[in-house]
Amino acid sequence: MSILEARNLGVKFGSFSAVDDVSVAFEKGCLTSVIGPNGAGKTTFFNLLTGFHPPSSGSVFFKDEDITQLPIHAKVQMGLTRTFQVLNVFDQLTVMENLRIAVQRLRGNPWRMLSREEGFTAVEEEVERLLEAVHLKDFRSTPADEMSHGHRRQLEIGLSLGVNPEVLLLDEPMSGLGMYETGRMSDFIEELAETLTVVLVEHHMSVVMKISQRVLVLQNGRLIADGAPAEIQQNSAVREAYLGK
Ligand code: ADP
Repeated sequence: MSILEARNLGVKFGSFSAVDDVSVAFEKGCLTSVIGPNGAGKTTFFNLLTGFHPPSSGSVFFKDEDITQLPIHAKVQMGLTRTFQVLNVFDQLTVMENLRIAVQRLRGNPWRMLSREEGFTAVEEEVERLLEAVHLKDFRSTPADEMSHGHRRQLEIGLSLGVNPEVLLLDEPMSGLGMYETGRMSDFIEELAETLTVVLVEHHMSVVMKISQRVLVLQNGRLIADGAPAEIQQNSAVREAYLGK
């Protein structure tokens, strides 16, 4: 079953098509990666899917509902969320404080309706759940800027999980990570994909080919290949252009 779908999605900057007539249905529960060289349109495609940029043409469907015109917060509330290439955490705050903000933001009105005590317990339980989900229990009182880059990325994903997404789009979560942390992040993403639909933009080909169930290839804003990792690796045009083989 498709949970997120781009139909003839495109955007032009002046006369330049950064994303050009892309149609793809993301299957529920599937870990799909989007690859392509710098400038292929991967981040712009994410921006269109999540509403950070309005499309010039086409539409986006979430659970068969046309969400193209909905504001970003409405899409997040429906269960569609993302991370960014640039790390987005509150550097001076501890891991718990960061996660608490994410949880309280989601609760909005229901939070205010709860008594102070009940509300506090509910938030703290959720923060504990997130701490565990992102494997940062040992760092609960550590300010974000005192952690390694990899742990900060895990925290950032934790902030996204705070809104209880069904679809999580990750934009280069391994950029700037060393080999060890890349491996840890790869395992973490696989774990997330056990319960969530994950769409990943990533340059680490070995990781993409190892953990993805499906790989989409963009070139000059167009979708030029779509298949299982083994198929994509054997696709001669893709090999030549992207894998350097
Ligand atoms: P990728 O993520 O694959 O590296 P991007 O989506 O960042 O590629 O960019 C695709 C192309 O669109 C690039 O040529 C980039 O310069 C251009 N582009 C992206 N955003 C804008 C913008 N806001 N205005 C003009 N050009 C843009």
